[in-house]
Amino acid sequence: MDYLKKLYLEAIGIEYVPGQATMVPGEIDGPASEFETLEQLRELIGDCHRCQLSRGRSNIVFGVGNPHADLVFVGEAPGRDEDLEGKPFVGKAGQLLTRIISAMGLTRDDVYICNVIKCRPPDNRDPLPAEIDMCEPFLKGQLSIIKPRVICALGSFASQTLLQSEVRISRLRGQFRDYGGVPLMPTYHPSFLLRNPHAKREVWEDIKMIMEYLDLPASEHGNN
Ligand code: SF4
Repeated sequence: MDYLKKLYLEAIGIEYVPGQATMVPGEIDGPASEFETLEQLRELIGDCHRCQLSRGRSNIVFGVGNPHADLVFVGEAPGRDEDLEGKPFVGKAGQLLTRIISAMGLTRDDVYICNVIKCRPPDNRDPLPAEIDMCEPFLKGQLSIIKPRVICALGSFASQTLLQSEVRISRLRGQFRDYGGVPLMPTYHPSFLLRNPHAKREVWEDIKMIMEYLDLPASEHGNN
C-alpha cells in the first residue's frame, strides 16, 4: 500500500519520502485507513495517466456494485464494451456473469465487480508487469475498503496475479486460496465459458462452495 500512501500524501500536499515513516492524518490501522470510501479512492485515481494504457482507453473502469459487499468478483481488465461504457463486465461475458450471480440468488447490486487493471489493454492483450505494478494497488485499495468475506477471481490472469502464482487456473480452481486472510476462489473467466461451455459445470462447483461459505440458500438454477 506504499504506492497508495504516496499518492494520498501528494494529493494532500505532503511530501512522500521513501522509507521515512509519515503519519497520515486520521491514520489508525495503516495506509488502508487513508481511504474510507470508494469515492475517495476513485477521486485519487483521477484522470489517471500513470501507465501507458491511458493512451488507448475511452474510460477508466473502476468497479460497480455494493460498497459493503460480502462477495467481490475480480476480472482481468476491461474489454471493448466495458471501455466504452465505463463499467466492468457488460459485454457477452458480463451477461454470463450476471446469470451466474442470478443463479446464486443475488443481483449485481448485491456484489461488487471490478478488474485488476482499470483501463483496456490494446487488442485485449495481457497487461504488462509495469502496468500491473501501477494499477494493482488500486484494486488492493478497493478490497481494503470493501472488506469482502470472499473474493472470486475470474480467470487465469486475475487468479495468478492476486495469488502471485504461476499455477494454471485449472489447478488453482476448485478450492479456496488465501488472499491476505480473505478466502479467494479462483474460477474460469466467463469469456472462457463462452468458448468452452462444458467448463460451466466446474464453475458452478466453485460457485456452490462460495454460496456455502456465505450461507446462501442452495439454488437449482446453476450450470445453465
Ligand atoms: S491502467 Fe490503471 S495505472 Fe494505468 S492509466 Fe489506467 S488507471 Fe492508471
